[in-house]
Amino acid sequence: MPIHERSLIRPENIKGHDKLVIDGVDVSGHWSTFIQSRVVTDYNEKLEEEIAALPGGEHIHRCWQCGSCTNSCTVNAVNPDFNPRYWIYLIRLGMEAELLRDKDIIWQCVSCNKCTYACPRDVVPEGVMKATAHWLELKGHTPKSKSTLFDEEFSDQVFETGKIEEGRIIRRFFHRTGQPLMQDWLVEMAKRLARHLPLKMLATMGLAALVRPRTRGWAGARAAIGEYVEEQKAKQHRALGLGELIEQAERELAGPPPARRT
Ligand code: SF4
Ligand code: SF4
Repeated sequence: MPIHERSLIRPENIKGHDKLVIDGVDVSGHWSTFIQSRVVTDYNEKLEEEIAALPGGEHIHRCWQCGSCTNSCTVNAVNPDFNPRYWIYLIRLGMEAELLRDKDIIWQCVSCNKCTYACPRDVVPEGVMKATAHWLELKGHTPKSKSTLFDEEFSDQVFETGKIEEGRIIRRFFHRTGQPLMQDWLVEMAKRLARHLPLKMLATMGLAALVRPRTRGWAGARAAIGEYVEEQKAKQHRALGLGELIEQAERELAGPPPARRT
């Protein structure tokens, strides 16, 4: 019998025989394929709660596993291992070790939101993918992705000035990601802007790059936004138990306590 979604089963758990005859009946190939059963003991019973505590993951509990998200997914069309329905299933069951097997591809979601429009339960799978990628970073399973670094640069600038100055964001983002500033596409874009934008607008942009203008009266708004962001971060860190993880890592780094002399 053919196995659907074979990519979801670990190769070592698929047992088959190219040539097998039982009681005179040839059961070679698909007919003699078995999936080895296994016992999972390392559930993270809080995994669904942890993902739901991060922005985008709030509605994960609504999923009824219809698979419309995966069917409509842009990335799944080119990489069958990219499977939002399956990851939501693993998260809801608390199968963290299984989820971590795919940690290096979850960030590949391109935020096209096709899944979100296809989902009959308003789970917002795109948000769940974002929350899961964020969870992987916060728990230290993956380094910060380029999109996270870009988000940080963007929001830092809004906090600082209440405005966006694209040139500075790009410069800082390239610096943090080790990319050269003089890239062909960027030089070409700058040339075209210089050719087509009105002189006044170019002068304003140049001035903004030099003097970093701020929104008038921004200090009050910045304090309120800063307070809100810190509150949210503290809430997320509590939900993910990051304080305990940090304490545990510090204990491991410090090594065992010295033996007591008798
Ligand atoms: S938003 Fe992400 S998960 Fe959803 S369809 Fe697009 S690539 Fe796939
Ligand atoms: S489309 Fe929605 S309900 Fe269906 S599997 Fe995906 S997230 Fe779950």
